[in-house]
Amino acid sequence: MVYRSPYPDLDLPQCNLLTYLFPEHKITDTPLWISAEDPSRSLSSRQMLAWIKRLGIGLDKLGVREGEVVLIFTPNHIFVPCAYLGIVGSKRIFSGGNPSYTVAEMTHQIADTDARVILVHPDLIDTALPAATAAAQRTGKSVPQLFLFSDEYVPPIRGIYDWQTFIGTPAEADRAQIKPLTPTEAVNTVATVNYSSGTTGLPKGVCVSHANLIANLEQNFYTRFVGRGYTWDDFPPERWLAFLPLYHAYGQLFTNMGVQRLQIPCYIMKVFNFERYLQHIQNYRITNLQVAPPILVMLQKRPETANYDISSVTDILTGAAPLPTELAREVSERFNVQINSGWGMTEVTCGAILVPGGTVDFTGSIGHIIPNTEISMRDDNGNEVPHGHRGELYVRGPQVCMRYWKNEEATRETLLEGGWLKTGDIAIMRNGKFWIVDRKKEMIKVNALQVAPAELEAVLLEHEAIIDSAVTGIQLHGQEWPRAYVTLAPEATGKVSEEDIHKWFIKRVAKHKRLAGGIMFVDEIPKLASGKIKRQIMREWAKRDIPEM
Ligand code: AMP
Repeated sequence: MVYRSPYPDLDLPQCNLLTYLFPEHKITDTPLWISAEDPSRSLSSRQMLAWIKRLGIGLDKLGVREGEVVLIFTPNHIFVPCAYLGIVGSKRIFSGGNPSYTVAEMTHQIADTDARVILVHPDLIDTALPAATAAAQRTGKSVPQLFLFSDEYVPPIRGIYDWQTFIGTPAEADRAQIKPLTPTEAVNTVATVNYSSGTTGLPKGVCVSHANLIANLEQNFYTRFVGRGYTWDDFPPERWLAFLPLYHAYGQLFTNMGVQRLQIPCYIMKVFNFERYLQHIQNYRITNLQVAPPILVMLQKRPETANYDISSVTDILTGAAPLPTELAREVSERFNVQINSGWGMTEVTCGAILVPGGTVDFTGSIGHIIPNTEISMRDDNGNEVPHGHRGELYVRGPQVCMRYWKNEEATRETLLEGGWLKTGDIAIMRNGKFWIVDRKKEMIKVNALQVAPAELEAVLLEHEAIIDSAVTGIQLHGQEWPRAYVTLAPEATGKVSEEDIHKWFIKRVAKHKRLAGGIMFVDEIPKLASGKIKRQIMREWAKRDIPEM
């Protein structure tokens, strides 16, 4: 049985993302993207559109072809939405690196996307430069061009010039038109390549089209506003505070696109700091928070919360990881806020299931299906399960991504005949509402960020003393952490300690990928005849071994 959204189908525009976001009446002088650290620095939609066009013209001048990736590597700031929209709107492809990435991780993303231009924040040059060189060695191509990218002009550093040196002039932007896309082109033109490990293996680029982006924006915000009686232009005024990373779909949907679509002022934080977050909520009278569950834990457990007046907040949207039911109730009652969950994944552009705005739900449900979307629940053999039974979520809709970037095998395994996306999440459905009850895929979520076991296993195997490894997630203090089981070479046994491996490991991966769930030495990793790790057994080991921590 295929479950459909309870909402009527929406008429979804299919055009260039910019054509959709910037109709004449939505080009205003109201500050919309505002620096949380220094609110005198802001961009209105008129200014934003001018910068977007200048960037597009600059990419033309640099000779970046349509369909090529431009990579950005920066913490959040008010020009990041400009980079996103300028790259996408000029028919190039946006990809963003996590600013905590190491050289090796960045090298992978540059080489995999084959980015020819990289916009890098001055603080991250020491990672970007060697990564760009290493990527060129790997691909055999020339080193990509690097430009400094922050929210103000920066003089050259180590021969790298500011992005403002190559972009078009304001006069050129004035004359420039948004490049049109026909409906067919909007469906077939890749707009973004965010990274996700999907249901198995290493992180892969997820190709999302202009039409995917527009659809998912409409579907989500319809469910939040229009579905509860408001119109697109008339809903209670909101003010947002953005800290979610803009290299990830969740932050992109709200800060890069939602702000403009809904004309909601958004204060952008460069880095997350909990006390600053509270200060900003208080000072800017923020009304709606978009978070992942760890923020709710902080709101509830950290003593600093009591020092700030956050009574302006009326709604909190949480997604990207499981939300403990009790926590939702506690936070909701203590701060008198509505907490709405949503479920999504990079492969569905951002979301597919959502608790509608204005609904109180303390059952732990992730809500119901957003418009134009269908869900099928299946067992391990791909057969539909009876109503009310556990099953893997399969999603179909206009937000389902096009394919994986240059990875036909992963595309074939995940995007099935008939347009169904296999999610790797196990859920239960009752009376139109869904509950996530398990995750079948390998992916681990730390602080709502993805960690791919296969990636960490490959890093561990680079250690000269390690001959085999398997990484799995363990649950500790209500959070998930990566735990490694490793087999040492016979000559290293007893000589290499857990601490030695940790010290070696942390230099090679971003902070959230550290083996905070511990490293355990084993004689053998359980494998199938094909050589694949028996993931189910690893999960059982992880449960069994927790008391030893
Ligand atoms: P990402 O692609 O980084 O957004 O991660 C997607 C994955 O995060 C999903 O496949 C789920 O495993 C998990 N996830 C997202 N939202 C939720 C939620 N509300 N509850 C539980 N898990 C979630």
